[in-house]
Amino acid sequence: MNGKQALTISERLAAIRAEIPEGIQIVAVSKFHPAQAIRDAYEAGQRLFGESRVQELLEKMAVLPSDIRWHFIGHLQTNKVRQLAGKAVMVESVDSVRLLELIGAESARVGAVTEVLLQVHVAEEDTKFGFTPVELLDYMHTGKYAGIEGVRLRGLMAMASNTDDNSRVRADFRKAAETFRIIKGLPGAETTLADFNVLSMGMSGDWPTAVEEGATMVRIGSAIFGERNYHS
Ligand SMILES: *Cc1c(COP(=O)(O)O)cnc(C)c1O
Repeated sequence: MNGKQALTISERLAAIRAEIPEGIQIVAVSKFHPAQAIRDAYEAGQRLFGESRVQELLEKMAVLPSDIRWHFIGHLQTNKVRQLAGKAVMVESVDSVRLLELIGAESARVGAVTEVLLQVHVAEEDTKFGFTPVELLDYMHTGKYAGIEGVRLRGLMAMASNTDDNSRVRADFRKAAETFRIIKGLPGAETTLADFNVLSMGMSGDWPTAVEEGATMVRIGSAIFGERNYHS
């Protein structure tokens, strides 16, 4: 137990909101925390939440207010896409073209459009999912994304290396931000990528660095809800 544990969810949220620059969206990452914790954040005005497991997201969604916007942020298996389509407003963790196309097809099937972020792998660990910057730029150059119904490409998501070395973390975020800028500058992007303007990066431990490097969205879990019993 440290001093932070004594604060309420609403106090922690207020502290983060006071620190974070205007205009940056906060995704409250509620994975492994009970519905009541989400209700506390909701009462404090939070409407955007992130979950990393499909079943958990659906169970929470069923018992919580319908004006909550749910983002899926975990590794999404293709056999779970159908359950998620039309439920999560955004999937932040699209790590393959196949997954992108499947989210499009399943969303279109239920008459929904799912916002998506492509996950770019910039961390040094090879356990993290995502496109490498080169793979991503190659795919974006093909322009094939433009023909996919049922999805709206909103930007990129990245995770930095899991290290205390802030210069390493900063370099990872910088690489993601650079990839983001290159994509926005591709020929024709002003029409085919008109609302490609979300750069989701930064978590409880590294969000200030992510914001300095250009994040427009941060995903904050433990700094709002406290420690989780399990990690994913
Ligand atoms: C769990 C998780 C977070 C939040 O992590 P904290 O360190 O608790 O803020 C952010 N992004 C992703 C993809 C996650 O899985």
